[in-house]
Amino acid sequence: MSRIVVAGGGIVGLSMAMMLAKQGHEVTVLERDAGAVPRSPDEAWQAWERQGIAQFRQAHFMHAAGRQLLDAMLPEVTQTLLRAGGNSFDLLSLMPPFIEDRAPRAGDERFVTVTARRPVIEYAVATTAGEHLDVRRGVAVAELLTGPATVDAVPHVTGVRTSDGEELAADLVIDAMGRRSPLAGFLEALGARPPAEEAEDLGFIYYTRYFRSLAGTPPAFITGPLTHFDSFSLLTLPGDAGTWSVTVFISSRDKALKELRHEDRWTAVVAACPLHAHLLDGDPVTGIIPISGIADRFRRYVVDGTPLVTGIVPVGDSLCCTNPSLGRGMTMGLMHAAGTAEVAGEHLDDPLALALEHDRMTQARVTPWYQDTVKIDRARKQQIDASIEGRPAAPDDASPVARALNTALLYDAGMFRTLLEIVSMYALPEEVFARPGFGDRVLAAAEGREVFVPPGPSRADVLKTLA
Ligand SMILES: Cc1cc2nc3c(=O)[nH]c(=O)nc-3n(C[C@H](O)[C@H](O)[C@H](O)COP(=O)(O)OP(=O)(O)OC[C@H]3O[C@@H](n4cnc5c(N)ncnc54)[C@H](O)[C@@H]3O)c2cc1C
Repeated sequence: MSRIVVAGGGIVGLSMAMMLAKQGHEVTVLERDAGAVPRSPDEAWQAWERQGIAQFRQAHFMHAAGRQLLDAMLPEVTQTLLRAGGNSFDLLSLMPPFIEDRAPRAGDERFVTVTARRPVIEYAVATTAGEHLDVRRGVAVAELLTGPATVDAVPHVTGVRTSDGEELAADLVIDAMGRRSPLAGFLEALGARPPAEEAEDLGFIYYTRYFRSLAGTPPAFITGPLTHFDSFSLLTLPGDAGTWSVTVFISSRDKALKELRHEDRWTAVVAACPLHAHLLDGDPVTGIIPISGIADRFRRYVVDGTPLVTGIVPVGDSLCCTNPSLGRGMTMGLMHAAGTAEVAGEHLDDPLALALEHDRMTQARVTPWYQDTVKIDRARKQQIDASIEGRPAAPDDASPVARALNTALLYDAGMFRTLLEIVSMYALPEEVFARPGFGDRVLAAAEGREVFVPPGPSRADVLKTLA
């Protein structure tokens, strides 16, 4: 049995801690925010103070791969979430009406996820963790402790000093301190080399409003969760207990569209989208909640084949965080935690092997999702920029097969399921496109079919609405 300290008690930190505790380790979680875990999902939504998580009340969607991972590794979390009002949501319910073959197929259950507002997901994870683990709330990691190096000139972490001044020794420290993790600063203080960092802020602003159904069931979702229009996009996500969220997101350069922060303007624009307007038919439970300044960032702690530090590894947002338009952060973090648990299970007695293997696992399982997400966000930013500047968007660099898939999925049941594999984070686009014969099948399914453009206001219409 080893002693492990997990710094940060968000969704990924607590899930990571539970996975490690199941391996028989003595795990302590330190969470800077002092607020106790609420006694009910309603209290979590209404009153839980989580200053450490800026996006705590923003729209969140857990992909089916995240649910499947929880089912496999922490089934008690999914059960608690369902008991707390989580909604079993089948992405196949979004199958376009043009698809004639609507028969179920083997394996369809993999597209069912559980949806809930973020505070309710966090409530389910924290309630479950609190039953099994030592979670100290209101205690921050203030500093890293070090001991004799295991690799020449590379600091070796042997524990943490808390904000209370207590020293906690650990065989491994996990950094789950989120997108604003102080790890790079802690390492600088130890004289370590800086991490290799990739970061950019694509400058999206998100304006979110939550609704609740007076009848207890949310309205049917007609489109997928993400729909793009000229110069704005809509994210429409089912929640828990009859709630759902509608988010309009725009570029922060787009001064005119910042009027969307006002409820009446926001409502007028959503109402002008025929496939989404019915999502306004509910009891609004919030005003418009804005968020911006969300960078995509990836930090790598093995550089030129050598770790910058041993005895500590990052998981979740502290390693990499992305823009939320594709809603991948929690699922990426859970995938990363599961991989980290495997690596810890094998290498806890060898800090160098653990650091290198953790990096290899991260590069294999998480980095490709990060890169794919950033690529899609950049392409979207270019489209929005073109729309703001009144010029046609530059042709995207999508392959003919990728373009054809967007049409084929509207008419072909198999192609729609293939899209869901990507959306649900079971397979990266490049994995799908590399399947033997896939390209030919997509092109055949799309042949002679019309590209579907979701009906909605043009930029000129939006500007008129907002004027
Ligand atoms: C606007 C927005 C919308 C999003 N929507 C989605 C979505 O739809 N689907 C999705 O999957 N993901 C979404 N995400 C991403 C998702 O929120 C993150 O991926 C997820 O929160 C990462 O969890 P985490 O546990 O790694 O970090 P966090 O949730 O950030 O938790 C980090 C924790 O560390 C604590 N902490 C910080 N410093 C210290 C310290 N020194 N000592 C101790 N504790 C500390 C903090 O208080 C916090 O509790 C969204 C993100 C944003 C910004």
